[in-house]
Amino acid sequence: MPTNPYNWIDKALSTINKANWYRSVKTIETLPGAIIKIEGKQLINFASNDYLGLAGDERLIAASIQATKEFGTGSTGSRLLTGHREIHQKLEQEISKLKQTEAALVFSSGYLANIGVISSIVSQRDLILSDKNNHSSLKNGAILSGAKIIEYNHNNLQDLQKKLEQERENYRRTLIITDSVFSMDGDLCKLPLLLELAEKYNSMLLVDEAHATGIFGNNGGGCVEHFKCTGKELIQIGTLSKALGSLGGYVAGSKKLIEFLQNRAPSWIYTTGLTPGDTAAALTAIKIIKQEPERRSKLWQNVETLKNLLETENQPFYTEKKISNYESPIICFPLKNAAQALTIGEKLKEKGILAPAIRPPTVNTSRIRISLMATHQKNHLQKLVKALINF
Ligand code: PMP
Repeated sequence: MPTNPYNWIDKALSTINKANWYRSVKTIETLPGAIIKIEGKQLINFASNDYLGLAGDERLIAASIQATKEFGTGSTGSRLLTGHREIHQKLEQEISKLKQTEAALVFSSGYLANIGVISSIVSQRDLILSDKNNHSSLKNGAILSGAKIIEYNHNNLQDLQKKLEQERENYRRTLIITDSVFSMDGDLCKLPLLLELAEKYNSMLLVDEAHATGIFGNNGGGCVEHFKCTGKELIQIGTLSKALGSLGGYVAGSKKLIEFLQNRAPSWIYTTGLTPGDTAAALTAIKIIKQEPERRSKLWQNVETLKNLLETENQPFYTEKKISNYESPIICFPLKNAAQALTIGEKLKEKGILAPAIRPPTVNTSRIRISLMATHQKNHLQKLVKALINF
């Protein structure tokens, strides 16, 4: 008896629902910002990656419109064919200046940058050592490469060293991969020690600066600058879609690495170049990051204010981590399970706060995740803390 080959989808959806893992989109009806409207309701936004408030900035919007008028809506082909414009090259130069690397290469998203770079520089004869809490794009890049993947315990460099000691000699090349700011935990990788281990075991090191560029370091150069590791030989990945308020991704590193990737990275070679509008917006964002360091200072002030408010409330909820140990604008409160996280997320929404539940499979432990922006006002943070403690 023939059965419908798509029937399994109903079952899969029902399993997802039963586990409280079901997700769906919500329509935002306003410009990005600290206050947004979702489905008719005004909310204080603690769920955005727009750390410096640039995604709705009129200068980025104007640059995007201007470039669109000049070069069109689409770039019409891959960079190696008809998709390359002078602004792509300018953006790559500005990224390499910000990162103080020899060169940079822009991809159409950060996800594509990670999968393209990782899968090009290692293969079957090689080893990848990957932090257990790495972002999905690093993990999938590793799988795509065909290299042997060994995960080390989150931020545990003793475990990493043990694995390098046991395994390094069995492989041709080795690549260590890590988020620099862990996207779902908000903690930082131990970059100087990672560099030491990479050197000791003749390994490459790739750090994903998605949540650090524009935020960390005196010039917004990211965790590499923050940890005074500028100029060290390593591979830096990033995105144009968080602090830079646009869309796209990049890799920054040596000239020879970029040259190699232009010839080998499938997610750069075989995809359409970044749109002129996105490219121009990112270029303008980098200028603003240089000219207006006060945006970064305001973001860090907000981090301090929130930590102080939370501490005054005497560690009100759900977390064993000391508030003073929070190191970034991402602050998480682990919860018992997905159902509890969903309930709390909904209740916060009723109180006018957008701080969504993050659940498996994104993370192992369900949580409420808060991300701060430079555009939050003190009263937004006060309202958040009040909402969090009144359960
Ligand atoms: N790396 C990390 C750590 C991220 O958090 C994200 C985005 N969530 C990405 C890469 C992917 O970047 P993009 O959104 O530009 O694809």
